[in-house]
Amino acid sequence: MIYKAPRGTHDIFGVNAAKMSLLEQVARVIFRKRGFEEIRTPIFEDAALFMRSIGQVTDIVEKEMYVFEDKKGRKLALRPEATASLARAFIENRLGISMPAGKFFYIGEMFRYERPQAGRYRQFHQIGGEFFGVSSPAADAEIILLAQDLLYSVEVNEISAHINSLGCKNCRPALREALVKYLDSGHGLCGDCLRRLKRNPLRVLDCKIDSHKFTEIPQMSDYLCSECKCSFDLLQSLLESAGCNYIVDNRLVRGLDYYTKTVFEIRQDTAGSREALAAGGRYDNLVEDIGGQSTPAVGFALGSERVLAAAQKAKFFISFQESEKIYIALADSELFSEAFSFAVKIVKNGLRGNKNISVFGPLEDKNLTNQLKFADKIKACTAVIFAKTEFEKGKVLVKNMKDKTQTEISINEL
Ligand code: ATP
Ligand code: MG
Repeated sequence: MIYKAPRGTHDIFGVNAAKMSLLEQVARVIFRKRGFEEIRTPIFEDAALFMRSIGQVTDIVEKEMYVFEDKKGRKLALRPEATASLARAFIENRLGISMPAGKFFYIGEMFRYERPQAGRYRQFHQIGGEFFGVSSPAADAEIILLAQDLLYSVEVNEISAHINSLGCKNCRPALREALVKYLDSGHGLCGDCLRRLKRNPLRVLDCKIDSHKFTEIPQMSDYLCSECKCSFDLLQSLLESAGCNYIVDNRLVRGLDYYTKTVFEIRQDTAGSREALAAGGRYDNLVEDIGGQSTPAVGFALGSERVLAAAQKAKFFISFQESEKIYIALADSELFSEAFSFAVKIVKNGLRGNKNISVFGPLEDKNLTNQLKFADKIKACTAVIFAKTEFEKGKVLVKNMKDKTQTEISINEL
């Protein structure tokens, strides 16, 4: 084998491709029901867009971005996430003017240079939604409930939303100060954290190495201004009234800097599972920070590969009906064009009322035995055999490939 897919990437085919499409199909229906419109942005952008929005001192920007120069020396990056791209598109296309409260969704691949492991790839897929223009926590609640709905719709049921508030421009500086004071007092921080401490102390809480050391860490909940506190309380009562299963986690921070107020992760309840299936939060300053008008916003993204892995045994996929595979076979090669046009007709109209079919054949240059062997190999349920004697009576042979029984049926009845 000379060529292999690049490390951390994989080909998706067969049943996995079918599941991925099904998940995306379900997502489109759920988004449209709630008034979200699809948006497709480029998979690469000006690298500065991500540096500015996600933040310089974040894992994504420091370690995980695929940055490259094009032939004109422009510094571009494969998108590591899509919120920044959507905010850029929202501003550039003036989407806020025609729709003061715009709801958008996207489905597509993201790229991060991470150490590949289960549920962590260098090219992966996200499905996400962004709600621009509404500062009420009702929008946060809608986003969290929508993300949960998506998981429920593929029968991933044992999930909880972990929520926190990171405060706003007014109240976060006080937490920052308290954090630096606490962390500076000798916790044997790793090299990354010592650097983060100076530039972005909140990031320290997210450190995979150090975060377990902090037991009595100052919590944002003690520093929230009255507006942020009110919003967070209202969010909780909205989630409660909607019957949402949520957990307040005052230590939750996210790996991106643009978040303000609400952040959340949706995790599976199974013991030991800390990996988020979906995550998001509010980002009230991002649109303005990258050159737009001040626009509050909240959004989420779901990792398709992780959700499909979680849904592996789910009823939804077990009951996922594969189409009836039909093989069109030829006992006499002179009937090729008749068999071919029959195949074209049933692709369009279905076979015996069933439109959920997939049709193979007719193929030339094979005797009937080999054709039927091939039909078995592709796991066809039914073979429709064109043979001269029967065809002259307007009939074909319909073979059940499971029990190998065969009946003569008039073509008009099929
Ligand atoms: P983590 O803490 O697991 O690295 P993150 O904070 O980097 O997650 P986000 O940027 O919020 O994740 O992305 C949202 C979702 O996208 C995650 O919850 C996860 O399901 C998925 N995701 C993120 N990175 C990867 C990856 N490298 N491979 C596959 N899925 C991913
Ligand atoms: Mg990550």
